[in-house]
Amino acid sequence: MTITRRLFWEDPYRREFEATVIESTDYAGQPAVVLDVTCFYPTSGGQPHDVGTLNGIAVCEVLEEGGRILHILERPLAEGTAVHGAIDWPRRFDHMQQHSGQHLLSQAFERLFDAETVSFHLGEEACTIDVTMADLDLAQVSQVEALVNGVIFENRPISAREYAEEEIGALGLRKAPTVHGRIRIVEVEGFDRCACGGTHVRTTGEIGLVHIRRWEKRRSQTRVEFLCGGRAQRDYLRLEALCREAANRLSVGVGELPEAIVRLQEALQQSGREAQALRKQLLEREVALLALEAEPIPGGRLLCRLLADYDAAAMRYIAQGLAAQGGIVALLAVREPSAQVCFVRSADFEADMVALFREAAGPYGGRGGGQPHAAQGGGMRADDLPAILARARALLLGETG
Ligand SMILES: [Zn+2]
Repeated sequence: MTITRRLFWEDPYRREFEATVIESTDYAGQPAVVLDVTCFYPTSGGQPHDVGTLNGIAVCEVLEEGGRILHILERPLAEGTAVHGAIDWPRRFDHMQQHSGQHLLSQAFERLFDAETVSFHLGEEACTIDVTMADLDLAQVSQVEALVNGVIFENRPISAREYAEEEIGALGLRKAPTVHGRIRIVEVEGFDRCACGGTHVRTTGEIGLVHIRRWEKRRSQTRVEFLCGGRAQRDYLRLEALCREAANRLSVGVGELPEAIVRLQEALQQSGREAQALRKQLLEREVALLALEAEPIPGGRLLCRLLADYDAAAMRYIAQGLAAQGGIVALLAVREPSAQVCFVRSADFEADMVALFREAAGPYGGRGGGQPHAAQGGGMRADDLPAILARARALLLGETG
């Protein structure tokens, strides 16, 4: 089997190359080729594959299978074809920034907290590492960021070299290699050494910036989400735009946002308390007015009313207020938030409100209950409320069977 020469290791900055198709095959129903040389990085070690073109034909996926690098194509290419290859450079450079940043981050967690990186994921939008720390707080995250970005500002060289398996014991690697034979070691000068087959930038300065965006506990480990380089820059711009918009809405500077939000919350609470006090006053006035409208009946007064402007909570408040007056029965109903009725009486008035409710509302589908002095229920149609009230009134006055 011919082994493909990996140009992405020799020069990760190379974007174009000339090659020959040495095998034309298919993979999961799609045409695929193996080349004698390639710049296309296959998915491995947490880093996603490159995309690009071979003679203008799109390379949608690149993967390694049994030591062969398979380029999955949109259209087939015949064996022996000479091809001009080009990778999507912005995508690759982004991967190089993220992957290089991950090396620094993993070393920083190890140095500061003796925490090992057990997995790495380079996602479309963000990257994550899982570190062996049960807890992580903001102060620790700041420490990690300070160390990593300090190494970035020092612009240290990053290099890759192959070693024989027996040589690597002396190298002080952060992570023991999972492969055998010749082992590729990536070194951030004076800071980190680890076995890695990915693509990296040539100096730490090209990583630009590493920012830890969030983290979450996962059993005994912590998943740390981070952004490097262009992703960190775009995130910064996004956050700045959000802050500016929020500040503009509150007519304050960005730095005054937290204070302005506290003021807003306090004002809202104050308004809420005032609204509640006014509502109480309004309902008390309503109770007084309704009591005046109650009709005289044997043993007291009766108020039978569909409350058009109130909801169920207000109805309960009004009912209690009326019942407290003495010598009164109130048969009330509301449509909001659903059709409900409330029958109450003063302590000094003889009548069973639960029985009255069942007899009046039951035939209309009303369900509910309560105590002899107060019953409440729903389940009926709003259109039937006037009929239910009329029936309850007639029953109470002994006008029906
Ligand atoms: Zn790497």
